[in-house]
Amino acid sequence: MMTTNRKLGLYIHIPFCLSKCLYCDFLSFSGFSDEDQSRYVQSLLMELDWYRDGREKAGGITIDILDYEVDSIFIGGGTPSLISAELIEKLLNKIHENFSVDQDCEITIEANPKTIDRHKLKAYREVGINRLSIGAQSLNPGLLDFIGRVHTPEEFLKNYEEARAAGFENINVDIMFGIPGQSLEIWSDTFQRVLDLAPQHISFYGLKIEEGTPFQLMKQNNELVELSDDLDRKMYALALSKLREPKLNGQCSNYDHYELSNAAETKFHCRHNLKYWSMDEYLGIGLGAHSYINQERFSVTRDIARYQKNNASHIDWRHTNSKEDEISEFIFTGMRKIEGISFQNYEARFGEPISRRYKNQVSKLLRGGLIELTGTGMKLTLLGIDLSNYVLSEFV
Ligand code: SF4
Repeated sequence: MMTTNRKLGLYIHIPFCLSKCLYCDFLSFSGFSDEDQSRYVQSLLMELDWYRDGREKAGGITIDILDYEVDSIFIGGGTPSLISAELIEKLLNKIHENFSVDQDCEITIEANPKTIDRHKLKAYREVGINRLSIGAQSLNPGLLDFIGRVHTPEEFLKNYEEARAAGFENINVDIMFGIPGQSLEIWSDTFQRVLDLAPQHISFYGLKIEEGTPFQLMKQNNELVELSDDLDRKMYALALSKLREPKLNGQCSNYDHYELSNAAETKFHCRHNLKYWSMDEYLGIGLGAHSYINQERFSVTRDIARYQKNNASHIDWRHTNSKEDEISEFIFTGMRKIEGISFQNYEARFGEPISRRYKNQVSKLLRGGLIELTGTGMKLTLLGIDLSNYVLSEFV
């Protein structure tokens, strides 16, 4: 298959979970049988076929797949590790059949403790998965129970060791702070124990009470008390300071805090997620999946019955970005990266200097000590990182 140098990220959504966590508003369901899961994967295979050889999809989306080389595949969810390794293999085989895939492609699967074992992990390695993202969330059993996770800290630790034994050399661990009932000490303990495992990548997200979740209902009924902003910020600051501490073996920490909620060893920044923050192109396959191609954003239906009809009419939202959309998204997402954005990239992309639209905002944020110039562009200061929601909202 002939390709150009245009790179593409491929996201595959698996919407099944063992049970729903109380804080979660991701598109996922529990209670589906093995048969339902195979049927869903059949629909994914069919969707992957629609893009083969640039065939036009219903809904008017045309992508000339021959123009692209896939350099990242991210199997996310939901809990992709819930379905069998054979189904994952079918998906990857189909991707290799239909797309040109870079030899060095980063291939990630999200996994939750209780849904993986050493056989599955070994099978993942055999089919080419080279990055594992494990949802630990906390190493405190009481908190895990409180937020509705179905696994224990011990199950996570066992899976982590099994993943290493299976040959995974690139592991991400997801953990959460800002959980009601979580103290600074509990957060510190979880963060430190994860650091001591020395994963290549750590994602540390602040819990948000999302609409439509059981947590939101509990909040409305005064059954759940959110942490104060002050404690939430202390937890985030503690994570940043721990990332800078020397490692147990006495060597300096080699984690780069490279995005607001992500840190990694130098060569292990997540290539796939960087596409979202750098406005690079990606194609989302599966229920509710979003894509960004040719300056157009589009997404697949969230209705599983409609999706599984396989009648190619499942794109239910599309939007061609205006120049204004592109500019504000470029800054909004790019400034999440700790290195910030480059003025040269901005000008090359939009044909004008950043000062044309954002002179006032940039001056105000510089004066407030929230952003700083880097010589080639601008980035958040430590204070700006702390108040990132406010800073980023200036560019929307
Ligand atoms: S496992 Fe993940 S996707 Fe599934 S319900 Fe919990 S948080 Fe949501």
